[in-house]
Amino acid sequence: MFNSRHNVQPVAPRDSDTAAIEARGLVKVFGAGGNAVRALDGVDLVVQRGEMVAIMGPSGSGKSTLLHIVGALESASDGMIAVAGQRYDGLDDSGLTRLRRDHIGFVFQFFNLLSSLSAEENVLLPALIARRTDSFTRARARELLELVGLGDRATHTPSELSGGQQQRVSIARALLLEPELVLADEPTGNLDTKSGREVLRVLRELNRAEGRTILMVTHDAAAAAVADRVVFLRDGRHAGEVEGGSTQRVIDFLATLEPGDDATAEPASAAA
Ligand code: ADP
Repeated sequence: MFNSRHNVQPVAPRDSDTAAIEARGLVKVFGAGGNAVRALDGVDLVVQRGEMVAIMGPSGSGKSTLLHIVGALESASDGMIAVAGQRYDGLDDSGLTRLRRDHIGFVFQFFNLLSSLSAEENVLLPALIARRTDSFTRARARELLELVGLGDRATHTPSELSGGQQQRVSIARALLLEPELVLADEPTGNLDTKSGREVLRVLRELNRAEGRTILMVTHDAAAAAVADRVVFLRDGRHAGEVEGGSTQRVIDFLATLEPGDDATAEPASAAA
């Protein structure tokens, strides 16, 4: 069943029942002894293929930690995580690197574009790294720039683009190698409201048009409401979820989680 070609990550069969993300009982402990922090304390998360899911919760509730573990950027202390049926346990560093490269696209708050490269070259970067700059991939880069509304900006460098345009380039880059999953960490966190809305519209359209699964961490209730489903964390635990589509519904649920008027309070779970 596993493909033995050296540059191909073995993956489980892509049957339609396999979830895009399956996490069971995820635990992450930072530090040891009296200084140990349980950033995640037994989180279950199943995201179906083609779903767009937002993660919200008070600061320190474990959102980034969860995203980093799903993105194979950080390992779990306990529990199980799989993307497209591929479990992470048992993979060595190079296996995890291939898994990230072949199955996951990342969108960061600060875009992370290379300033000396054009928009098109930035989109092609994952292919350059993976040595896959064939004509199909180049055509795909141009198609993605069109899809994010930047077909006429392909030769511009990041400094010649607005923040929202740079984020749209980074979304195109994340999708170049057709990942199973796009992980977006505060994708609108560094943008004004209008640019943020445009970026969300692009993410949502790519989710629908290309069926990409998207997991997005955000502080912004309006951004979260764009998703199909909003999952809330508190103190490193799953604290409930609501259907997307209504900013007010997200705000109302958040209000039940926020510790008073201080949303940045440290979680109480450090002692758990
Ligand atoms: P959020 O993204 O919801 O703000 P994080 O996942 O960043 O929360 O953090 C969850 C908890 O884990 C916090 O108490 C945070 O201080 C702690 N934490 C996160 N990363 C580290 C780390 N590298 N070392 C120690 N503690 C960490």
